[in-house]
This record gives sequence, structure tokens and C-alpha cells, in this order.
Amino acid sequence: MKRYALGVDLGGTNIAVGLVDEDHHIVDHLSRKTNLPRPEEEVEQSIAEICRELVARNDLSFEQDIRWIGIGTPGSVNPKTGIIEFNANFGYHDWHLTADMEKLLPGKVYIENDANAAAYGEYIAGGAKGSKNAVVITLGTGIGSGIIIDGRIFSGFNSAGAEIGHTVIEKGGRPCMCGRKGCWEKYASARALEEDTRAALQEHKDNIMWQYIGGDLRKVNAKTAFDGMRAGDALAKELVDRFIEYVACGLTNVINVFQPEIICIGGGVSREGETLLAPLRKLVDEEDYARNSEHRTKIVVAQLHNDAGIIGAASLGSQNNE
Ligand SMILES: [Zn+2]
Repeated sequence: MKRYALGVDLGGTNIAVGLVDEDHHIVDHLSRKTNLPRPEEEVEQSIAEICRELVARNDLSFEQDIRWIGIGTPGSVNPKTGIIEFNANFGYHDWHLTADMEKLLPGKVYIENDANAAAYGEYIAGGAKGSKNAVVITLGTGIGSGIIIDGRIFSGFNSAGAEIGHTVIEKGGRPCMCGRKGCWEKYASARALEEDTRAALQEHKDNIMWQYIGGDLRKVNAKTAFDGMRAGDALAKELVDRFIEYVACGLTNVINVFQPEIICIGGGVSREGETLLAPLRKLVDEEDYARNSEHRTKIVVAQLHNDAGIIGAASLGSQNNE
């Protein structure tokens, strides 16, 4: 008999729930607005309602068909205590999410930081599948990261670790919301490339990239500079080259610390594929401490994209049951 798990991607904007089978396929999913700000009890009720609806409309029962419920959400999430100590999006402190959800739904509930859950998804069913040690890096608004060591999510003794985006690569550099200056994500996230592209365009009013954005700087995204580079524009190439140098710098740090079998790169900009990866590998090859070793870290693109969070959350029980 086929069994399923529910994977919940609980974000500040949406609560997305997937019914996931044992082959890690999302067979059905349902999403509602998180509607913040509101009290945590209401958010919990919403999660429970969506889960119940998903189970009912697939003619399943929690008792017989659902192995567990996994929830990935931002913030300082402690999977051992089931408590979210702090979550900036929601504004809740010491949120006893696991205990509360287990009162509302039949079955075991697991929680995890959303970036870690997404990394676990890539590890279980995506780009890092088949490895034992992997690091998943998501280049987005910031840099999300998750570290898997010997098949388990590693986030430090207090579950606040694996924040690779907040390691400094330029001392005294750009100020970061974490309080430090020069964090990796201020240079190598998709947003950093966007902001650098905008700043460059303001100084070069006749550049070809203005055509891609219809003269509207708000339409700049991480692809703008890549498109300009493909059209042979020198400024765009300079932006992309510098961006890739910054990504490579942080990746080499990651490799020198962890020597993972695989580093999986996700986020919209990873859709550039080899345009991004080939020069990245070349730069990492020049500086990686183990560059003369026979066994080298593979750098690949993530495969699950937006589904990684749901699939990873739905797989949390298998990690804990090992
Ligand atoms: Zn930072």
C-alpha cells in the first residue's frame, strides 16, 4: 500500500502544503495566503485545515495513509525541541509549533528551518541525490544554505548554524541586515547582482541592457546582466564576471571547510546552467585547497527548484527515523 507524507512550506506570504509519496513526488498540493500579521493559533489552524483538505480530497486518512507531517519555515527552528525560537517574518518568539500541531492533527510532526528543509529535499530527491555529504546553496534574495553531513541536516548545537550567506568575504564591506559588513550574500546573491546591475545602468544610460528592461530600472533582474553578456556587451560581462568571482570565493570557502561530495546551486540564477557553472568551476579549481586531490567536489545545479521546500519537509521524518 502506498503511503504519503505531508510537506509544509510555511512562509511569510504563503502556506504551501504538498502530499508527497514515498518516491518523493508531489501528488497533490494546496496553497493559501499566510495573512500575517495574525496570532500563531490562527496560522496553526490554517496549516491544519489545508492538511485535512488535502488528505480528504485524495480519499486518504491520516491514521492509515499519512506517515508524518513535516514543516519547513524561516528562522531559528529547533527540530529537537520542536520550538521556533525566533522567526523575523512572523514576529513570534518561542513558538511551540510541533506540540501545537500534534494537538491539531493526528500523526507525528517534524519541523526544520526552511533552507535546511529545501537542502534536504535536493539531497533526498534532487541535484545532490546519492551523495552522503552535500551543501546546497540557493542564490536568491539572500543566500540560503543547508549542510548535510552523513545524511543528516547539520545546523550546529543550537540549530542556528549553516548560515553560510552570513560569512564575511569583504571585511568592512557592504552592510548586511544581520549586523555584519561584507557578508557573502551582499555580493553573490541574485539580489546583489540585480542591485549591481541597476547601479551600473544608472551610470551608463546608453547601455544595451536598458532595452531589455524597457527603460524601467525596476524590471532589472539577475538575468539582465547574463542577457547583456550574451549579446556581447562589455559592461554586462564585467557584472557577470564579478558576480561569479564572488560566488566562487564563497564556494571555495565552503569546499575548504566541508569538502562535500556535491555542492548544489539553486535559485533562479541557477537556470543559467553551464553559463554560470563552467566559469565557477574554473575559479574554484584555481583556489580549492584540495585541487590536486583525485576526489573533488562536484558543483551542480539544483533540480527541484520551488518544490525543494515541500519535498524536503515531507522527508524530514525519514531523517529522524534513521
Ligand atoms: Zn550578514
